[in-house]
Amino acid sequence: MKAEIIAVGTELLLGQIVNTNAQYLSRELAAMGIDVYYQTVVGDNMERLKEALRLSSSRADIVILSGGLGPTQDDLTKDALASLLNRSLHIDRMAMDRIERFFQDRGVVMTENNRRQAIAIEGGTPLPNETGLAVGNAITQDGTHYIVLPGPPKELIPMFEQQAKPWLLQHVLTDELPIYSKMLKFAGIGESALDERLSDLITEQTDPTIALYAKDGEVTVRISTKAASESEAMVRLDELQERIRERGPEFMYASEDVPIEKVIVDTMADRGLTLSAAESCTGGLVAESLTSVPGSATMFLGGIVSYTNEMKRKLVHIPQALLEGDDAPGAVSREVAQALAENVRLITDSDFGLSVTGVAGPGYAERKPVGLVYIGLSQRGRETEVHELNLQGNRETIRLRATKALLYRLWRRLVSEGSEQA
Ligand code: ATP
Ligand code: MG
Repeated sequence: MKAEIIAVGTELLLGQIVNTNAQYLSRELAAMGIDVYYQTVVGDNMERLKEALRLSSSRADIVILSGGLGPTQDDLTKDALASLLNRSLHIDRMAMDRIERFFQDRGVVMTENNRRQAIAIEGGTPLPNETGLAVGNAITQDGTHYIVLPGPPKELIPMFEQQAKPWLLQHVLTDELPIYSKMLKFAGIGESALDERLSDLITEQTDPTIALYAKDGEVTVRISTKAASESEAMVRLDELQERIRERGPEFMYASEDVPIEKVIVDTMADRGLTLSAAESCTGGLVAESLTSVPGSATMFLGGIVSYTNEMKRKLVHIPQALLEGDDAPGAVSREVAQALAENVRLITDSDFGLSVTGVAGPGYAERKPVGLVYIGLSQRGRETEVHELNLQGNRETIRLRATKALLYRLWRRLVSEGSEQA
């Protein structure tokens, strides 16, 4: 099954917005076992849109369109597709009711052009829009399946999930076995290093398939297989999962799609352990990551963002002699990372204290290079661990990577504690 995605919108061509819809759709289709061969972007122009559609129709079994379903004159997607397929357009009653109700509820007079959002193509299946007004469409003609989705991601994603995907499963993928996937999550190792460790498995893959991608400072390995039943799929996936885990057991922290902070929060909450953090260059990102996880209140006591030397002194009691002076190691140092982690733990009376201090850039600080970061991990009754990181990337990436590296060290510590306990 070959698919193509056509994203419609001059804004995309002008670089004003990023084509996240194509990324989302490609990922979803891949997970369904559908091969995406082309992604096209075309402006709000009838002739070029029809041209793109003609080309896609000639090559693909499934053509998915995003954008151009709005009320304005430049929203042409349905007109272009109807014209190409020689079909007429009509108003979908359900969609029209929804639009009228929307304006009534708000006490606003509906302008005539809003009717355009209720347009459906003759013979197609209207796809209701739960989060917006423009109705989508699914149509099959001459063996090609077309799906028309709205541009705003908050409309496109639910419509794909709730309408288009079931339609594809029911009308298009009927003979195909369903696809089952598992997500294996890695931290503390980069995408290319992991790719290398798995290279023979990746090269010889047929079924299950292996796909790697890096996002938000973590690496995800998705393994997928087609099978008649879930239990059959799981036997195959579990077996491959173990082969993959063996290649880097110290880096694989989950076999489902969760961030490492979630595993940390759950583990610590389970064991009744508490945590605090003193952050400099990450400006609270460590605290933000942890507190974004529901249930973190039971284990995360609090964090201090001690950005300047003065605040490191005042709030975290870092000795002046470590921070300033000719012989001082300076704020970005092993010594200060250690003191930050230990002091924040003592101040908050928590089981674990984390720290991070470094140069996020751009530009040097204390004559130290961009990307030099120290992370500290203090634990009640244990020696404090400090690691020097030399991170690549821009300010945002360095801050994120420092955060994830620190969380990774904490996770490692929890794993080793857990096996000691056992
Ligand atoms: P509207 O009713 O808002 O006009 P529409 O279906 O006509 O919706 P567009 O006009 O093409 O869609 O785009 C509306 C907005 O949706 C854009 O301003 C942009 O924010 C977002 N959007 C459109 N296409 C994409 C895309 N391919 N990727 C990410 N966002 C997109
Ligand atoms: Mg529009």
